Amino acid sequence: MIRIPREIIERIIAQAREELPNEACGLLTGEGNVVAELYPMRNVDASPEHFSFDPREQFAVLKSARQSGQRIIANFHSHPATPARPSGEDIRLAYDPELCYIILSLAEEQPVIKAFSIRDGRAEQVSIEVEG
Ligand SMILES: [Zn+2]
Repeated sequence: MIRIPREIIERIIAQAREELPNEACGLLTGEGNVVAELYPMRNVDASPEHFSFDPREQFAVLKSARQSGQRIIANFHSHPATPARPSGEDIRLAYDPELCYIILSLAEEQPVIKAFSIRDGRAEQVSIEVEG
C-alpha cells in the first residue's frame, strides 16, 4: 500500500495532460510508504511510448529529499494511450524492487492511476490510499 495526498494525484494528472502526446514522468519522495512531495521530471525521451529521467535531475531530487529527511519512494509515468499497467519495457527497466512504480493512464475518458512493485521481472499491483 502507498499513501498519496489527493493534491499530488491531481498534479500528476495535470502534468500528464500538459505533456501529451508524450509520456510524463516524475519522482515522489516521502517517508515509509507515505508520499509527501512530487518532483515533476523532464522526459528526456520526449516520446509517447517511452520515458527516461535526466540523471542530473534525478540526483538533484535525491539530494533535496535527503536534506528534508525523505527518500525517493516512488516514480510515476503516464501512458497516454495504453492501460495503467507496466509494459514489457517498464518491467525490464525497473531497477529498484523497493520502489513503487506508479502509472497513470489517459487512455480512457477518466484518468486511471495504479501502483506496482516490480521484482524479478514480475509486476505486482500495490493499492493506493488517497489522503485528503
Ligand atoms: Zn510505461
